Amino acid sequence: MKKFVIFILFLSFCGGDSNSQQTSEQSESNEATKQSESNEATQNEEEIIDHMTLVDYPAKLYFAGDIPTEVHGRAEFAFSIIQEKLGKYPVEVYFVGTDENEKDNLSNLFCTNREKAGNFDPNDLRLNFRDFDDCMNFIDERYFSEYLRSSLETEQRGFQASGNKGHNGQAHQRYHLLVWSKPIGFEVENGEGYQIELRGVFHEYWHVFQIAHMDFYDCSDKDVRSTCEYNFDPPDYLIGGTWLQEGTAVFKEITILQEQIKIGNLNNIQVDILQEFNNQYFDGQRVMEQCPGMSIRDITYSDPCRRAVYGWGAWAAAYLTHKVNDPYIFENVYYPELKKLGDPELVFANTFGMTRDEFFADFDSWIYLSEEERKIVIPVVEENTGKLYYP
Ligand SMILES: [Zn+2]
Repeated sequence: MKKFVIFILFLSFCGGDSNSQQTSEQSESNEATKQSESNEATQNEEEIIDHMTLVDYPAKLYFAGDIPTEVHGRAEFAFSIIQEKLGKYPVEVYFVGTDENEKDNLSNLFCTNREKAGNFDPNDLRLNFRDFDDCMNFIDERYFSEYLRSSLETEQRGFQASGNKGHNGQAHQRYHLLVWSKPIGFEVENGEGYQIELRGVFHEYWHVFQIAHMDFYDCSDKDVRSTCEYNFDPPDYLIGGTWLQEGTAVFKEITILQEQIKIGNLNNIQVDILQEFNNQYFDGQRVMEQCPGMSIRDITYSDPCRRAVYGWGAWAAAYLTHKVNDPYIFENVYYPELKKLGDPELVFANTFGMTRDEFFADFDSWIYLSEEERKIVIPVVEENTGKLYYP
């Protein structure tokens, strides 16, 4: 019998650097189903760990056996930076290489982790896997085989960094699943692909942070979590639009990289923040030729100009942070309020002092202004601290 899974598939170009065209298409998805077992209950009984819970352990990273050991530490470093900033949520990250047998070993490890977490239950297939084989089929067919193909393509085409990476849901099993194709950019510290991999980690973890602020449960009393049931309906309205989901992710990957450079955590990487945003702008402009007259508000992962949700989406995020004079408005206000209220329209209006309609009425023509007129929305990065501000 098949699991009942409500599946939102996002085709996207995540974590990409528009300069180098590293990225290939990928699927990012949220799966919404119900859940039962708690994993690693180190806390007391009433405290239920789910995808929204801050935990006291770091992201769990798992590497296929053909990924060099030097890469492990660099990937761990990248995750430690971003978890320090955005908080530690229950996350498992699987890095797939190019070797079939090693991919199968990684699938085995994934399913061993599911078994330990209590995710096998033939009597509740909405939430769980029937058994080990069911789990192996799921992870291999849906994800790891696909990422292995992407790893091979990355090598064949001589890309500098992993082509495919993504948040792949699993909130119903109370954690976030991230999957990566071979992170070859981490093979050489401070090499060409290194900063692309770092940005990819920052970008995907931002998606963890976003989803960690989306309450997919129906509760009779929201404060008593034991009264909550996982909601099977696709919670896509909580995302607030693809442009917001991806635009803020690109805004974060650029600004966090800037901050890391300024505080001296990264050597030999120098990128100018305006140049970064301009690259995003040109990328958006180029793809928008395929969707004349369209607003990024309406663009989805299936549109030919989908890359505009990244490129111009980043400018939309900057426009909004500038509007309220706070480059940290999304993590400090918008998402925490979204978690509380569950109403993106209302939270948007409260946070930015205008409705989404009012925002797009201005943004859709503003984005065509000259660089001189637009660049005031790009925050300044303070020397030594990397703190963002508007002068
Ligand atoms: Zn993304």
